[in-house]
Amino acid sequence: MPDTELKFWETHSLDEMSRTQWESLCDSCGRCCLHKLEDEDSGDIYFTDVVCHYMDEETCQCPHYDNRQKFVPDCLTIYPDWGEKFNWLPNTCAYRLLHEGKPLFDWHPLISKDPQSVHLAGISVRGRTFSDDKIDEDEMELHIVDWVK
Ligand code: SF4
Ligand code: SF4
Repeated sequence: MPDTELKFWETHSLDEMSRTQWESLCDSCGRCCLHKLEDEDSGDIYFTDVVCHYMDEETCQCPHYDNRQKFVPDCLTIYPDWGEKFNWLPNTCAYRLLHEGKPLFDWHPLISKDPQSVHLAGISVRGRTFSDDKIDEDEMELHIVDWVK
């Protein structure tokens, strides 16, 4: 297969991708399922290690992905024309990287051809989160982490 077919993310803009291509950009890191805190003054976003209780802690995937807003009404749906909202995503996320004109990392499954590489590279949230049904709201600041930005 020609290399250009493999690297559709280099030849297509986000809004030119097929649904299958778009979905394959997600590396299943689980980082967007982490709770975030926003500094009201600066607008800066801080990630915590508190994760949505629906996330599967082993696969770091959502078991209700197709109808996730039924379970979590404010769960994100990413769109190509999201603009500044791409900042809500971690700086390792393929959607954000491509929006910013940056390349994907070598551990991305589209490049490594191994869905485990996101875990092996220490990018996924596997093994380092607390479920949000076990954490009080007023403890959230204590859970801000620097391993995801
Ligand atoms: S942060 Fe991006 S790559 Fe990671 S699970 Fe969320 S959408 Fe997928
Ligand atoms: S509903 Fe699913 S996709 Fe949304 S935050 Fe929870 S685990 Fe993640």
